[in-house]
Amino acid sequence: MSVTIDLSGKTALVMGVANARSLGWAIAEPLLQAGCRVGFSYQGERLRGELEKLTAGREGTWIQQADATSEEDLTALFARVREEFGHLDYLVHSIAYAPRAAMEGRFIATTPEDWNTALNVSAYTLVSTARHAEPLLRPGGSIVSLTYHASQQVVPKYNVMGVAKAALEAATRYLAADLGKADVRVNTISAGAMRTVAARSIPGFSGLYDEAGRRAALGRHATPEEVGKLALFLLSDLGSGVTGQTVYVDAGANIMTMPLE
Ligand code: NAP
Repeated sequence: MSVTIDLSGKTALVMGVANARSLGWAIAEPLLQAGCRVGFSYQGERLRGELEKLTAGREGTWIQQADATSEEDLTALFARVREEFGHLDYLVHSIAYAPRAAMEGRFIATTPEDWNTALNVSAYTLVSTARHAEPLLRPGGSIVSLTYHASQQVVPKYNVMGVAKAALEAATRYLAADLGKADVRVNTISAGAMRTVAARSIPGFSGLYDEAGRRAALGRHATPEEVGKLALFLLSDLGSGVTGQTVYVDAGANIMTMPLE
């Protein structure tokens, strides 16, 4: 992909890159190509090596461990952002998790513990990270997260994660209202099914993936690169005037009930 937009002088924090297939990485790539300086946070030491490899030789990058559900980790992470950049232009939240047990059985069987974990990790952390970022975000700043259409329609086995994504989309609107006067925008990208670590852990994902490609208006899957291009639009000045939105990049899968003949 050739990027002509110039983001030199801009800074971003990308949270939730597990490997080169992560949608967080697909978003970071065009930011880096456009000259943006990018800090990355990862949940556990297990992922450090992968992120070190990905960012090796990429100018203006740094990495730091942060569990997004830990106030202590978030405080340390945003102190690092202040130290490295002095301010922040773009925040990318690419984090989700639900215990596997909650995605294997019936939705009605969801335990309070699994409900709280899924909504805390997958939705509340957008609110908490936005709050930590607020003092550092400059006018023109922008926050983007990742959601999925299971927030709107029942996707088998997605269960409590569908509820968490609905909460994330609603939180996006409330955050956009809170931060709008400071000229900071908040949007969420509803991506089509893509083969990542998180997606593969969803029971029945391959059937869901095949069905999405079959049904999509474009007759194919959207790609991580296309998620990256939409994020670049929403984060940068190209997207000025767009806030509080759930924007789809799924090759038109969500508009179709079944493929045309
Ligand atoms: P991914 O590569 O597995 O990324 C998910 C990331 O979330 C991982 O790095 C994971 O770290 C991190 N994470 C989980 N709990 C965390 C916590 N408490 N603190 C910090 N980080 C945490 O999968 P992905 O598909 O790119 O997922 C990124 C986002 O895209 C998610 O919001 C997902 O729901 C969304 N999305 C994905 C698809 C798809 O089909 N792939 C479609 C629509 C939306 P660990 O590996 O350490 O757990």
